[in-house]
Amino acid sequence: MPPSTPTLQLFGAGGAFSRKYGTTCAMLVTPRGMRWLVDCGRQAPDQLYAAGVAWHDIDGQIVTHVHGDHVYGLEDFAFRRFYEAHGGVASIREGGPRPRLIAHSAVRAELWETLAPALRYIPDGDDPRGGTLDHYFDVLAPRAVEGPKHNAWNHAEAFASGDLSVRARECVHVPGKPSTSLELEVGDGVFAWWSGDSTVDGRWLAKIEPRTTIFFHDCTFIDYPGQVHGAFSLLAQLPETVRRKMVLMHHEDDIEDHRAEAEALGFRIAMPGDVFDLATGRRIA
Ligand SMILES: [Zn+2]
Ligand SMILES: [Zn+2]
Repeated sequence: MPPSTPTLQLFGAGGAFSRKYGTTCAMLVTPRGMRWLVDCGRQAPDQLYAAGVAWHDIDGQIVTHVHGDHVYGLEDFAFRRFYEAHGGVASIREGGPRPRLIAHSAVRAELWETLAPALRYIPDGDDPRGGTLDHYFDVLAPRAVEGPKHNAWNHAEAFASGDLSVRARECVHVPGKPSTSLELEVGDGVFAWWSGDSTVDGRWLAKIEPRTTIFFHDCTFIDYPGQVHGAFSLLAQLPETVRRKMVLMHHEDDIEDHRAEAEALGFRIAMPGDVFDLATGRRIA
C-alpha cells in the first residue's frame, strides 16, 4: 500500500565532511508510490544498500546542485541502471526504463560536466564518446520558468511528473554557482521546502512560511567570512513560526553539542533514517 501522503526519508543527514551522519540523500515517496531521490551524495550507494533500497526501485532523481556530497553517487546509479537488470526491471541497455531526472537547466549543465568523463563512452557511429545524460536518464524539461533575476540562468524552473510537482529556485550558496532550493508540492499551493545548500534568506523563508508545511535547512555552527551554508546564528533569528517548522540537516558531526540550544528555539534535528510526512510536517519514523 503506497502512503496517502508524500513522505521523505533521510538516508544521509550530514554535511559535506560529515563522517557520522552521511552525505545528503533522501527518498521522497509520492502518494501514488513513486520513489524519487533528492540529491545523491558520495555515500548514497552504501546508504541505499544499508536501507534495503535498490537503484532499480528508484523512479527518479532530483538534483539541487553539483557538489560531491550531493551528486557523486550518480555515476554508480547511472551505470547500474544502464548495464544491469534487477528485480524484474530490465537494464536501460536492454530497453528498461530510464530513471527520470529533475534538475534546473543551469545545474544540469554542471552535472554533465562532472559525469561526462565516466558516462560519455557510449559509441555513436565512429564516435566512441557519444553518451549523453539522456542515455541514462529521462531528463525532464521544465513546464514553466521564471526568467533570470540574480544570475544569467532562470530564477526558477517548475517540473511535474506523475504526481510530483516541484519548483527548483535559485538560492545563494557559492557565489556564481548554480544552486537551487526545492519547493515540493504537497497540496494546492502548499509545499515542503528543501534548502539544498543555501545561505539563510530570512525574508523569503518568513514570506513562504504560511504556504510551507516543513522546512529542511542545511546548518552549520561554524561562522566564517564568505559563509556558504545556513549559519545557525542567522537561523536562530528566524521567526518562531519558521523555526518550529524547520528541520536542521546537512549538519556537522558536532551537532549533539548544539542539540539543546537548537531544540530550545523550536528546531528539530535530522538524523539518518528519519521519515517525515510532508503534508503535516511531522516526523513519523
Ligand atoms: Zn552540501
Ligand atoms: Zn554545496
